[in-house]
Amino acid sequence: MSGFADMDIDTIWMNGEFVDWDDAKIHVMSHGLHYGTGVFEGVRSYDTEHGPAIFRWEEHLDRLYNSTKPYNMEIEHSREELTNATIELLKRQDLKSCYIRPIAFFGYDSLGVSPRNCPTDVAIGAWPWGTYLGDDALENGVEVMVSSWRKHSSSQIPTNAKTTGLYVNSLLAGEEARRNGYAEAVVLNKEGNVAEGPGENIFLVRDGEIFTPGLAESILDGITRNTLITLAREQGYTVHDNATISRGELNTADELFFTGSAAEVTPIRKVDNVVIGNGSRGPVTEELQSAFFDLVERRTDAHDDWFLYVDEQ
Ligand code: PMP
Repeated sequence: MSGFADMDIDTIWMNGEFVDWDDAKIHVMSHGLHYGTGVFEGVRSYDTEHGPAIFRWEEHLDRLYNSTKPYNMEIEHSREELTNATIELLKRQDLKSCYIRPIAFFGYDSLGVSPRNCPTDVAIGAWPWGTYLGDDALENGVEVMVSSWRKHSSSQIPTNAKTTGLYVNSLLAGEEARRNGYAEAVVLNKEGNVAEGPGENIFLVRDGEIFTPGLAESILDGITRNTLITLAREQGYTVHDNATISRGELNTADELFFTGSAAEVTPIRKVDNVVIGNGSRGPVTEELQSAFFDLVERRTDAHDDWFLYVDEQ
């Protein structure tokens, strides 16, 4: 991703108002900065023939509000307000294909670990963002490394809440992989089974059936994961969405792929230098990936209720 400074963007929605991008500032003594006490979303809008279409916005909002619950955080802005703010943000900046980042975090008041008196600050930004793991990743797949860092157990921290603090684990795993020449990591859970990527869910194809770790494996309940499960079932595949996948099964899989709002559907061609399947995007991955892009770029009428059409609002 290139830096914000090179982008044609100028507006942030913050605590109920639109402000200039350069003025969207917080105090360095904000709670969220010190303790990772924020919750956020990563959402994509696709450029379709009906104009920009935000994919599964309602589900992202559901997850955002749900993520606040373990932290007793209250977002004092309604779903409608966040929705209108996002639509306006895209319209004002003429954004079509873009990434949308809503965030809510404990703000500035005091720095006890208890955020009791801290306000909840809420902001939304949006910017153009191409493929997450590199331009040829979608076609040729990525090489990944099983991280030496384990994912935090959901008994230690709610991994189903998309909390800013969780991403130091993602950073450690992802950067370790990149230092070793891989594009991305696969992270095992505390039990040593496959959990997910640093910012992606993972799917395995074996003997024509599809497997993905269950929600109790310390994963984020990915919205793209849910989308792929739905699409795969519609194509007639058996999908085991509550699987326990051992590390060794990665190496013997016929196909592996990542899903995520940023990563979309990215094939995995090698794990720890072991070639997966035929070493390129496998046929099931390719079929589901094209079903996914046909869906999000609206080359089909299916699942129209998953889209928020900006120009129609
Ligand atoms: N797992 C983690 C840890 C993530 O950060 C993400 C990205 N939000 C995902 C899975 C995929 O979730 P989604 O498809 O909702 O983007």
